[in-house]
Amino acid sequence: MSLRNGRSYLAIPGPSVTPDRVLRAMHQPAPNIYSGSLVDLTASLIPDLKTVARTNGHVAIYIANGHGAWEAALANVAAPGEKVLVLATGRFGHGWAEMAERMGIHAEILEFGLDTPVDPAKVETRLKQPDAAGFKAVMVTHVDTSTSILNDVAAVRAALDAAGYEGLLMADCIASLGCDRFEMDAWGVDVMVAACQKGLMTPPGVSFVFFNEKAAEVRRAMPLVSIYWDWTNRGNPEEFYQYFAGTAPTHHLFGLREALNMIVHEEGLDAVFNRHTRIAEAVWTAMEVWGDGGPMTLNVEDRKDRSHAVTAARLTGPNGTALRDWTEQNMGVTLGIGLGMAHSGDPAWHRHFRIVHMGHVNGQMIFGVLGSIEAGLTALDIPHGEGALGAAAKVLAAS
Ligand SMILES: *Cc1c(COP(=O)(O)O)cnc(C)c1O
Repeated sequence: MSLRNGRSYLAIPGPSVTPDRVLRAMHQPAPNIYSGSLVDLTASLIPDLKTVARTNGHVAIYIANGHGAWEAALANVAAPGEKVLVLATGRFGHGWAEMAERMGIHAEILEFGLDTPVDPAKVETRLKQPDAAGFKAVMVTHVDTSTSILNDVAAVRAALDAAGYEGLLMADCIASLGCDRFEMDAWGVDVMVAACQKGLMTPPGVSFVFFNEKAAEVRRAMPLVSIYWDWTNRGNPEEFYQYFAGTAPTHHLFGLREALNMIVHEEGLDAVFNRHTRIAEAVWTAMEVWGDGGPMTLNVEDRKDRSHAVTAARLTGPNGTALRDWTEQNMGVTLGIGLGMAHSGDPAWHRHFRIVHMGHVNGQMIFGVLGSIEAGLTALDIPHGEGALGAAAKVLAAS
């Protein structure tokens, strides 16, 4: 017998849960893309996107997933033959570096491993070397979704300043925007990339590059940027079609408008951060209790280094995959796979799983996930500590 029939829950790191309101907003005929309400709606998104990023800079919107935003950001600031420095704490840091390499940009990687955040002192040391002035940008992943490491971007900025580094600081906030506190201007970030299908609660298909005046200056000095990736007109369009270098992503804009209403105008960004914090604490508390009486371990040991959007964990043997399969087939909850923690052909890969708690997630949803995992651990005879749900309930009760 399966208990999966009912509303399913996709607890994977993107696409996140899309609110019904967002889906309903998208369910309408295509609008005129030359004039009328879509023009006003698009213009109304810009200040709200900047609010979410905490910036007074510019934002360019791309019809692309996060990989597109990675390429867009690089295309505007670094030419083939130039170099960048990538601070890697998981699969996504390496992915952005590979993107640079395939564009002919040399990406030097500073590796921080898979369970500890960027060490700013090591960044400072590297940037004090005489050749460091040649890096067009330092690239950091705010939350690496594969490892669930949260990097201290303000501390990275301080390291850049201490080293006298004058290039750009670029941050990947694809997983963290609208989940983990991020302050683009206050933290001295010059370029930031994000996408709509994680904290911004909209189906995949639109991504963003935020950039400040310093980055715009670097763009102006670039010899050549393709019409499609160039952020200049997208960020400051004279004609509506320039926002998107072609047809607007009409329905995504409807959905995004509704999602930003919820985040910016109804709940408020600080309340959104607080909700993510409390829900993450409930998840960690439950997992730590399970781990006290069994093999479950959280990937990141120190709470201050953990994302509030996603939590990576491991079991032993094939039990990560077994648990994911069990919760999906029996409870209607799909957990995240392990990403970048082992090669997918390696049996060790099957130890890993991730719980995602980003975007449109509340207390009862997270209890559904935690309760389903507890049922799975029990059904699969995976040893685990008792009392995890009660401990998580105490965390939520204290809010
Ligand atoms: C999801 C994600 C990406 C990739 O985004 P896609 O939309 O899958 O291309 C990049 N970086 C981070 C941190 C992510 O979480």
